[in-house]
Amino acid sequence: MTPEEIIALDQAHVWHPYAAFPNPSPVYPVSHAEGVYLHLSDGHTLIDGTSSWWSVLHGYNHPELNRAIEEQLHKVSHVMLGGITHEPVVKLAKLLADITPEGLNKVFFSDSGSVAVEVAMKMALQYWFSSGQHQKTRFLALRAGYHGDTFAAMSVCDPFTGMHHLFTQTLQHQIFCEPPACGFDEEWDEIHIASFSQLIQRHRQKIAAVILEPIAQNAGGMRFYSPHYLRRVRELCDAHDILLIADEIATGFGRTGKLFACEHAGISPDIMCVGKALTGGYMGMAATLCNDKVSDEISRGDAGAFMHGPTFMGNPLACSVALASTRLLIEGDWQKRVLHIEAFLKAELEPCRELPAVADVRVLGAIGVVELHNAIDIASIQAAFIKQGIWVRPIGKLIYLMPPFIISDAELHQLTRGIYTVVSELDS
Ligand SMILES: *Cc1c(COP(=O)(O)O)cnc(C)c1O
Repeated sequence: MTPEEIIALDQAHVWHPYAAFPNPSPVYPVSHAEGVYLHLSDGHTLIDGTSSWWSVLHGYNHPELNRAIEEQLHKVSHVMLGGITHEPVVKLAKLLADITPEGLNKVFFSDSGSVAVEVAMKMALQYWFSSGQHQKTRFLALRAGYHGDTFAAMSVCDPFTGMHHLFTQTLQHQIFCEPPACGFDEEWDEIHIASFSQLIQRHRQKIAAVILEPIAQNAGGMRFYSPHYLRRVRELCDAHDILLIADEIATGFGRTGKLFACEHAGISPDIMCVGKALTGGYMGMAATLCNDKVSDEISRGDAGAFMHGPTFMGNPLACSVALASTRLLIEGDWQKRVLHIEAFLKAELEPCRELPAVADVRVLGAIGVVELHNAIDIASIQAAFIKQGIWVRPIGKLIYLMPPFIISDAELHQLTRGIYTVVSELDS
């Protein structure tokens, strides 16, 4: 098909994320992708600065990941997990239990991050049902957080920046704390936990769990906060007998400089969600892990079982590529790579701070953020980035880079230079 034919059919039938119909914004047909490069059908080549929503850790069309899927394809591409098990799912569950924070040793698989969050919240609710505490039905979440697009997940997203304010009337009303005010490297003061501490004490009888993105809040604000905050949250949850859910869907698999962001604080949550980079960006897959305390209590309850079971949970193809991707990551020098990308982004994005349109520049691990004073028209800035040969897709007033870890210095430089050039042409 020609690029024009693809676009015409797309215009007629394909509904894009967070888009109207017909879609007023241009879309760009990709014919193939390799390493950090997206090849467009019209012959253009772009460096992907977003890893396809933070998932494509090792780059596109990776021979080892391709091989993992091809080999599994000829054995069994899908089989139900009800009453059946298989080698890829047990190996992946064991690997995740081994590499995630201590105590998380039960793995519930699902197909997307939002569902993994639904599962985590359901686990917390069922935990309290089982222990006879039926009043514990609320969640304490952080403002500026994002946890997905399904209904329970929407209820814990930031009510304003979390993209779901339209639905406020139909969502369960959760308890929100202002976002952590202490930056990642900033000196800690107990004042930074004061409002969280007050909220948890005031509402402890009805709070089932605290849910947060550890250390780096992503789609809801791209904010990085102090490991001390997370440590104090863990202590307060323990002190008030409240479960802690860590949503590591964006932060997991090395993105913040630790394999899982909870490690910055040396804490273990009771329940943890992973997704996005789990399969190296090859297929939709997510997982919710929990500790013995949670699984034992749920299993003791009247229901006698955890009441959830997606059709495609533990899909063998997805498990195989997740295993290959995760092994490739942990057996390689990912930490050195991420530290290198961090230093590079810090040096090369810093000059953006002087530009009139820019409010802040911040970097953590392989996440670089240029926050503008005002939200930007995505379609027009996207076109400007494409002229620079880069694929960068802002969220509101946040321009960010989350490149694949395999990116070279020259490619990274093209990304940072492209951002500087485009942002320098914006008015304040
Ligand atoms: C992307 C994301 C989700 C939702 O995952 P989907 O796969 O898009 O459903 C949930 N939580 C966080 C922190 C995310 O970044």
